[in-house]
Amino acid sequence: MNARRSASSGSAALTSILSRDGDSAANSGPNNQGRRAYKRWRLFRRNEGPGVDAKTSAPRRDAARRTETVKNGQHPVATLIACSDSREPVEIIFDQGIGDLFVVRVAGNVANTDEIGSVEYGTSHLGAPLLIVLGHTECGAVTAVATKAEVHGSIPALVAPIQPAVDKAQKEHPDLKGKDLVPAAIEANVFQSIEDLLKKSEMTRKLVAGGKLRIEGAVYDLTSGSVKWLGAHPQQKALLETVEKARELEPAHH
Ligand SMILES: [Zn+2]
Repeated sequence: MNARRSASSGSAALTSILSRDGDSAANSGPNNQGRRAYKRWRLFRRNEGPGVDAKTSAPRRDAARRTETVKNGQHPVATLIACSDSREPVEIIFDQGIGDLFVVRVAGNVANTDEIGSVEYGTSHLGAPLLIVLGHTECGAVTAVATKAEVHGSIPALVAPIQPAVDKAQKEHPDLKGKDLVPAAIEANVFQSIEDLLKKSEMTRKLVAGGKLRIEGAVYDLTSGSVKWLGAHPQQKALLETVEKARELEPAHH
């Protein structure tokens, strides 16, 4: 209760930053877009630290906000791919409200066709300049793949994109097995989703190459409530170049 009251001034500061960003959207040169993305990323970085409890102000969750966002449409500040895990509620983690985040939640925060289409809607159609792929500690989906657990139904197809991440983590940590490999696999899986997205989505590559979209990986700690920022994909530039080179070689583009 105290945390909620004491954080109200922080909420006002947040609102002022958001509206300032909104004003600058009118001038949409690539550099300006890059600045917007950077500002918004800084906004989210505020939650890095010992935990989010003290900073929770639960902003923009009232009837006025509902009315405003229906009347004026949604203008989310960021798009996210996060895990479906019930302990990773993104609006609460980043202290955001209604209309603030365009969120794709899927077990293992994978980037398959449906997730990529949803991301494209958030980044391209709605124009959110920041994309966060948010994994989390103790992820059951990543653990299942890393420990070779038996899964049934539609789950094997769902978690298939996690396998390359587990393989990469294993290669980097040949000494680790099973459960011990999970933390490294969780980080590798965040970058795997970013890689899958960049490889499969031309729209996303164009936005990133044009400085209109910033993609950041992060891992949320279920115990401390803090977010560990991993940065952009370490091979982002090479990934963009490789895909575009391959496309240039396709006869259809000449
Ligand atoms: Zn998970």
